[in-house]
Amino acid sequence: MTTVARAASEAAPRVRHPNTWVYFDGDICRYHDVHIGLMTNALHYGTGVYDGTRAYWDGEHGQLYIAQGVEHFERMRRSAKTLEMTLPHTNEELLDITLELIRRNEFREDIYIRPILFAATEEIGCRLDNIDVSFAIYLAPANRYAAWTDGIRCKISSWRRVSDDAIPARAKATGAYINCALSKLEATASGFDEAIMLNRDGHVAEGPVENIFMVKKGGIVTPPLGDDIVEGLTRGMVLELIRDELDLPVTERSIQRTELYSCDELFFTGTGVRVTSIVDVDDRRIGDGTEGPVTKRLKELFRAAVLRRLPGREHWTVPVY
Ligand code: PMP
Repeated sequence: MTTVARAASEAAPRVRHPNTWVYFDGDICRYHDVHIGLMTNALHYGTGVYDGTRAYWDGEHGQLYIAQGVEHFERMRRSAKTLEMTLPHTNEELLDITLELIRRNEFREDIYIRPILFAATEEIGCRLDNIDVSFAIYLAPANRYAAWTDGIRCKISSWRRVSDDAIPARAKATGAYINCALSKLEATASGFDEAIMLNRDGHVAEGPVENIFMVKKGGIVTPPLGDDIVEGLTRGMVLELIRDELDLPVTERSIQRTELYSCDELFFTGTGVRVTSIVDVDDRRIGDGTEGPVTKRLKELFRAAVLRRLPGREHWTVPVY
């Protein structure tokens, strides 16, 4: 392992221990009892889809809240459809399985919830027709995942975001994440925290696992869904908070690279990063180089909402215990 690779993997969530309870093809079993063969199609060809959401631990009330419990299974169902795969169970059944898994694991901390559906046929051949699929859900503590508390420094990547006519960016297809990993590698190897990818048209798309928002002249702008981005669940929640709680104008429109250099505030949203301020792009200071007031307020509102402390947003979360 190179130094860069080691640093990146240390930041990732890990299985709590090999005894973690997971769901795999109809059974709840121990993580170490799942065996996936070397010839598994998805391992070679990236033929799978995944999703992810977070559960937020409220230590004060001894409660864990899953964010967007049903919605992220709905997004995954749509991703699966793009690959002509079928997600087993209804969204509500999947949520019930997730609740059962969390309770069995007795998690009392922030966790990451990762369902994955993948081509499981063990045979040489890059294809998606007439293929067996496997489905799993696993959970991992999330406290160390993208745990940036201060503003971060980003690099515009030389890797363009995959376009919809190559690999559907919105589908959260496992193979597409090579694109994200390469941009991240380039950014961290150059001493930055994270990458920002442009799409093939040169428009600002997103980070490797984050959506991006720009604050400019009292308004907020974020790239539209047609600019090869993932329809982030956090993006959706933040859009609602901007409209309803901040009462600021927000536009979904294409953004050009140099608009980033001169904007007032910039931030990422995502399951991993939640709301994270970007204070530098390509060694150019954003605003005064510290977290701006709009980002700060959105961070507070988002945290309150996922911990059920913001009236009117209770439907965003599902309590576990
Ligand atoms: N873009 C990409 C490429 C992602 O993988 C993610 C993470 N799912 C996001 C944006 C943010 O989406 P979410 O808010 O649902 O985590």
